[in-house]
Amino acid sequence: MTVQDFATLGLADALLRTAATCGYTTPTPIQIGAIPPLMAGRDLLGLAQTGTGKTAAFTLPMLHRLAAAGARDKRIPKAPQALILTPTRELAVQIAGVVETFSRGLGLRHALVHGGVSARPQVVTLQRGVDVLIATPGRLLDLLEQRAVFLDRVCYFVLDEADRMLDLGFVRDVKRIAALVPKDRQTALFSATMPQSIVELTEGLLRNPERIQITPTSTPIERIRQSVMFVARNNKRPLLSRLLGAPEVSRAIVFVRTKHGVDRVVDALKRDGLQAEGLHGNKSQGARQTALDGFKRGRLPILVATDIAARGIDVQEISHVINLDLPDVPETYVHRIGRTARAGAEGIAVSFCETEEIGNLMAIETATRRSIDVDQKHDFHDAGIEAEYRSGRRPPVAASQRARRNNGNGNNGGGRPKQDANARSAGRPQNQGRRNGGGGNGRPRRSSEARQSA
Ligand code: AMP
Repeated sequence: MTVQDFATLGLADALLRTAATCGYTTPTPIQIGAIPPLMAGRDLLGLAQTGTGKTAAFTLPMLHRLAAAGARDKRIPKAPQALILTPTRELAVQIAGVVETFSRGLGLRHALVHGGVSARPQVVTLQRGVDVLIATPGRLLDLLEQRAVFLDRVCYFVLDEADRMLDLGFVRDVKRIAALVPKDRQTALFSATMPQSIVELTEGLLRNPERIQITPTSTPIERIRQSVMFVARNNKRPLLSRLLGAPEVSRAIVFVRTKHGVDRVVDALKRDGLQAEGLHGNKSQGARQTALDGFKRGRLPILVATDIAARGIDVQEISHVINLDLPDVPETYVHRIGRTARAGAEGIAVSFCETEEIGNLMAIETATRRSIDVDQKHDFHDAGIEAEYRSGRRPPVAASQRARRNNGNGNNGGGRPKQDANARSAGRPQNQGRRNGGGGNGRPRRSSEARQSA
């Protein structure tokens, strides 16, 4: 793909000026691919993740065309012309920020509606009239029921992170909303993955779409220094405090599987004198936004989050991503570590792996087609877990994980390229970094091995 200038995309001068102010000098691949067909009125299917510049890819042509069409009919309030549907509040807030920035100088108005906050101000804003509505499905349906908004004037419909929308169980909501949008519209659907459920959804929603696929997973991953630390479950939190206390950790996201886990980790970090806040769906919108703003502005160095809460968060200069537990879906791992190494920077991703997670680690290595470096240079290194990992046997997977993974790989790590195992043992000094020998933590290491061989 040739390097292209924004000026060649035919966008309004005001948009080009704002792009320049935001430091967008060259369009990203998704922008090069998506902006021309969207400008021409085509439907679009974009296979792209957050971090690729997809928000601007759909926002710029939408605002351009809205501005070119002239002033909205002020006699018809509550009837936006563009609808951007997105799965989470955080993502909605982020998109609204981009819409707000690029609407400057175009005379276009937008509204942001999501749950977790009072609907009243949202109703008032809609009543005043907006061009672009950014919404999460649940709150939008509530407002539609209250007749606080109508979708019969929508001519631009964007579904962002469609796969996550379905993961979160919004499929019926999305279909109900789509049915209220006029058929004669332009639709753009973005998804990081393309499972069968999304294929079916696109068939119902898109007309002869232009298909753009951006595979960022291979490129950013090259810039991320990935490592795994074998550590017993009980030692994960002390190890985490130790890592996060290091001076080179300037801005870190810690991923934790459950909401309760997030709270427990934040409490433990605070007890250890570290400044950390949690981000998950049970927190009030205010608390989530405060934590996120603090993190973005550099006041808060550590954010602890669940996958869903962190989805779509765009913060530059995250120095470290730490996986307190390893997700059982490899794609989630790729999403997580993609939070670092943004904007050309190098990033560091450290994953903790306990015995039960060896299978997850193997699945991730298979999916990303690379082996992850083992870091033994910490006081909690568990050589027993490492030995189990190197044996190449995939330990039994918990039933819940097995159901979710369902990838037919069996339980012997069969999908893992053989040379990975060789590469792992080759070139790595056997005793490197083992400070206190054996399990390194004074804990009887045999227990985990015993469990494994059972
Ligand atoms: P997104 O994938 O939309 O979440 O965008 C990821 C990040 O890339 C955001 O911080 C954008 O501000 C930034 N960005 C988007 N387009 C460009 C561009 N053409 N040049 C530089 N940065 C961009």
